[in-house]
Amino acid sequence: MANPDESISKQALFTRRLLEWHRTVNTRDLPWKGEKDPYRIWLSEIILQQTRAQQGLPYYHAFTTQYPTVHDLAAAKDDDVFRVWQGLGYYNRCRNMLATARYISDELSGAFPSTYEGLLSLKGIGPYTAAAIGSFAFGLPTAVLDGNVYRVLSRYFGIETPSDSSEGKAIFTSLAAELVSPKESALYNQAIMDLGATVCTPANPKCEDCPVASLCFARSHDAQAIYPVRTKKINVTERHFNYLVIVHNDQIWVNKRAEGDIWANLFELLLIETPKQTQPAELQKALKTLELSVKDIERHTFFHSKQRLTHQLIHSYFYSVSITEPDRHSLPGMGRWVSINELKNLAFPKTLVSFFRKNLYF
Ligand code: SF4
Repeated sequence: MANPDESISKQALFTRRLLEWHRTVNTRDLPWKGEKDPYRIWLSEIILQQTRAQQGLPYYHAFTTQYPTVHDLAAAKDDDVFRVWQGLGYYNRCRNMLATARYISDELSGAFPSTYEGLLSLKGIGPYTAAAIGSFAFGLPTAVLDGNVYRVLSRYFGIETPSDSSEGKAIFTSLAAELVSPKESALYNQAIMDLGATVCTPANPKCEDCPVASLCFARSHDAQAIYPVRTKKINVTERHFNYLVIVHNDQIWVNKRAEGDIWANLFELLLIETPKQTQPAELQKALKTLELSVKDIERHTFFHSKQRLTHQLIHSYFYSVSITEPDRHSLPGMGRWVSINELKNLAFPKTLVSFFRKNLYF
């Protein structure tokens, strides 16, 4: 008897086997899987942009508990929402999320658009998120395309065109649109995301457990490591942040970061940025220009953090500064004294949260 798989194309076989695997073998369990509410799907997708699922889970629970509807999120204060977001980084995502929640609550009476174009027009929603919400919430036949999907497709089909070139993007977009099952787009999208996250992983893919292994180009050529092919090298700027821990009478000086740079509107300590790592004596000179009456300045030598953002590597150093008197007017920035107990109620970048935790501020 002829093998029924022999008469269908490599594309059709990919979709068929992927869906079978999803129904019978895939046990990856996440709280937003199978969700139909566009608000909850949108929240999970925004949280998961540039964040691993396990790391995003507690944030998803926190947001859905504190803000069960889009109206609740829209009505929340910015600082409270930043506080819940704290630790996820990429604060622009959070700002866009708030803007979109307010737009949907105020202008669309709380109803998410149900077309791909309508979803794509919302702030913070790109093609991937629009395709995900479109298929999961509204059954649209839209295919998701992200790093996981580029990896699976480039390996299976042996695609040499760089996935970050415009030609490569066009090839992957049209292939993904061919592969998605129009009637089962939600299942297909979930399946390919799960396959990329659990089986066709960047390093050491588990090809022996893969439902499409028998026709996979990379596997048969032992070439998994070279896919997906990429062209771009990201230029990274190094920055050196010197944070001054100024404590007086159980109060600590904090500033709010201005717009136009990373971590806008989050709180931080008094910051002096230098072109390279510097010495306390150099900082003391800089502090004189701020007319601060400094008694002593001492580096926390055990705490030096390096935080990699997409285009920046931030080195943070911390210094304890004792001053003779707290002159409110001589401290620069949008700052204020807060009690040490109050620190935990403010939203800080990840590096500062780690510093505070290590030093038992909270
Ligand atoms: S066989 Fe291996 S390389 Fe090919 S798609 Fe499956 S996991 Fe990825």
